[in-house]
Amino acid sequence: MIAPMGATCGTQFTPQIAYPNDCPICTDERQYIGSQGQQWLSLAELQAGHHNRIEPHEPGLIGIGTEPRFAISQRALLVQTAAGNVLWDCISLLDDATIEAVHALGGIHAIAISHPHYYSSMVEWSQAFDAPIYLHAADRQWVMRPDSRIMFWEGDAQTLPGGLTIVHCGGHFAGSTVLHWAAGAHGGGALLTGDTINVVQDRRFVSFMRSYPNQIPLPASAIRQIVAAVEPYAFERIYGAWWETIIQHDAKRAVYASAERYIRAIEG
Ligand SMILES: [Zn+2]
Repeated sequence: MIAPMGATCGTQFTPQIAYPNDCPICTDERQYIGSQGQQWLSLAELQAGHHNRIEPHEPGLIGIGTEPRFAISQRALLVQTAAGNVLWDCISLLDDATIEAVHALGGIHAIAISHPHYYSSMVEWSQAFDAPIYLHAADRQWVMRPDSRIMFWEGDAQTLPGGLTIVHCGGHFAGSTVLHWAAGAHGGGALLTGDTINVVQDRRFVSFMRSYPNQIPLPASAIRQIVAAVEPYAFERIYGAWWETIIQHDAKRAVYASAERYIRAIEG
């Protein structure tokens, strides 16, 4: 029995006898199948050629990303709090070196994931650290490896210990969320957004898309819903899904300005 992992999206499936024919996450219009066709690998095969880079972003926030890059190449974020650590988003590669390093950083008390593209090997991480996984119930259909540690939550927000709140935004996926870290950015607050709110290349603006690789925009109503969802929270900084996608200062104003610019562009 192997737990197949899709090479384009990095999603690990329930252990089974043979590789499946296709991956529902990759055949969905928001993702894609690579030009070589649907490719699969096992976690052991991924471990053989890759390792994780583990590096702090600021006090209490550590990035964990795979090198060389794999699948969507997002890096996860470990938020350290006095009430326990939370892993925000997840990656496909978990190995002994990573488990040892994360234990040395205080382990993982809970895992929360922005949306299905980053579900990756969440069950491996959950088992290794005996941590529950918080997923928004609106994306339940996209779980490819069901597990008793997955906690589906509903509604607008889910509070976690340590001054952390998962905020439901929708948009990219019906259940897309962000994580608010009140103590982040030296007390100014930080928003960990995955690609629910996507920091763009100039790192002064963000964008909001149904599909990033296939460039499918969202309607104005969805943009307004995302902005309204994060409006009650104070945040100075945004950490997007990759190492470099960070808005260091005045991030809330960047979200407002980006939403206005976007809606102006699509409504003409
Ligand atoms: Zn995505």
